[in-house]
Amino acid sequence: MTSAHARCTAALYALAGWPRWLAAGLCLIAATVAALGSATRSGPPPSSTIVVAARDLPAGHLLVPADLRMVRWPDSALPRDPMPSQAGAIGQRTAQQLFRGEPMSSAALLDPAVVSALAAGQVAASVTLAGRDQGALVHRGAVIDLYPASDQGLVGGSPLPATGVTLASGRSIDADVVVSNADYANTYLRLVDPAHRRINRDAVIKFRKQSMSLVVIYFGYAKRSDDPELRHHNIILGPRYEELLTDIFERKILAADFSQYLHIPTLTDASLAPPGHHAAYTLIPVPNTQSGIDWDKASDGFADKVITFLDERGYIPDLRQRIVYRSFITPDYFEKTLGSYAGNGFGVEPRLTQTAFFRPHNRSEDVTNLYLVGQGTQPGGGTPSVMMSAKMTAREIARDFAIDLNSVVGTVGTVGMVGMVGSAR
Ligand SMILES: Cc1cc2nc3c(=O)[nH]c(=O)nc-3n(C[C@H](O)[C@H](O)[C@H](O)COP(=O)(O)OP(=O)(O)OC[C@H]3O[C@@H](n4cnc5c(N)ncnc54)[C@H](O)[C@@H]3O)c2cc1C
Repeated sequence: MTSAHARCTAALYALAGWPRWLAAGLCLIAATVAALGSATRSGPPPSSTIVVAARDLPAGHLLVPADLRMVRWPDSALPRDPMPSQAGAIGQRTAQQLFRGEPMSSAALLDPAVVSALAAGQVAASVTLAGRDQGALVHRGAVIDLYPASDQGLVGGSPLPATGVTLASGRSIDADVVVSNADYANTYLRLVDPAHRRINRDAVIKFRKQSMSLVVIYFGYAKRSDDPELRHHNIILGPRYEELLTDIFERKILAADFSQYLHIPTLTDASLAPPGHHAAYTLIPVPNTQSGIDWDKASDGFADKVITFLDERGYIPDLRQRIVYRSFITPDYFEKTLGSYAGNGFGVEPRLTQTAFFRPHNRSEDVTNLYLVGQGTQPGGGTPSVMMSAKMTAREIARDFAIDLNSVVGTVGTVGMVGMVGSAR
């Protein structure tokens, strides 16, 4: 309640008879005028024309006009150095991956001096380091090798044991044991020659049901003191439950309604966003890419719809005016960037016939010394299960190699494990 409103109500209680009716009438007129005033004020927020990515762009990409488009962008959400025209970007190379619709800025482009210093066959890209400790290892001018695994990258195979991995660069790394944390289906389909797969044949892998996929919208918005009470974790269910699941898993269509998990970690730790702001994402389950949905066409409208829903249903009132950052990923990102078969978000679908013994095994039946770990294997998806899967795989290796696990804690490499790092696709 505003203080003017409170004073008005108090004054009304103090009056009696016709003066009370007259005062009430005046209050009503004043409230109507105020409401009309604020309605007139809430027109479209001031905005500027800036350059954004017209499609998902990989790091190191040479920009051409078709990669860019001009859009109106709210002034309150402008990046630090927005690009007002395409001329500054065309012919430059991207320093990082850019999602479709993401604003172009000079920070997203490689410094021409760096590009000119590259030898033939070299590319430069900015790499996000996981933590401060890794940052301390890197100094200006340092060279970082990234090792994406290549297609058909496993060396050896049944009846021979795995003896290492071949990287996309063609370089081979020898190892006594190979552990794949990549998607289970693509580990076999892309990294192990079918000639070496008696159990995990293409048909068996493709027959398995894959989990749903996701649209995840990452956004930042300005805080307001009258924000409704939301939690760190919020589940907002749509009007339908079983039917929506049928649309996602069986019919594989993009339904008009949706349920979502809204995540606002800044309600727990405000330091995760600039002062006065929240950082959030909302995750919407959608069919995996076996649906054939064209996400290039559907994604912008879908993301607008979700943001409008949160705004108009009062979960985050005026979100469209308050939003300062927005980007999103779709099932295409899960498939093409993360290498998840059919764009699955959680590995093989956790249904009874794909659970426990029936779920892909952590020790390969086809290739000796090949082990799998992660959500596609046993026991299943979600961070706690994935940690358990790591423990199970480590135990299997220890048993196979007669290693006392207690003696190797903290000395990874003792059994020659090779992690697959980076992504070739
Ligand atoms: C938006 C979202 C929110 C989630 N929230 C929760 C939550 O709150 N709680 C929870 O418990 N779980 C949550 N999950 C699930 C959880 O994150 C996953 O189950 C878990 O991270 C899977 O771990 P993983 O090691 O199996 O796979 P990933 O973490 O996906 O790691 C596999 C890695 O392998 C890489 N890779 C693939 N192919 C290759 C290749 N050929 N060469 C090299 N690298 C390759 C991929 O790029 C990827 O980086 C969430 C998932 C999503 C998507």
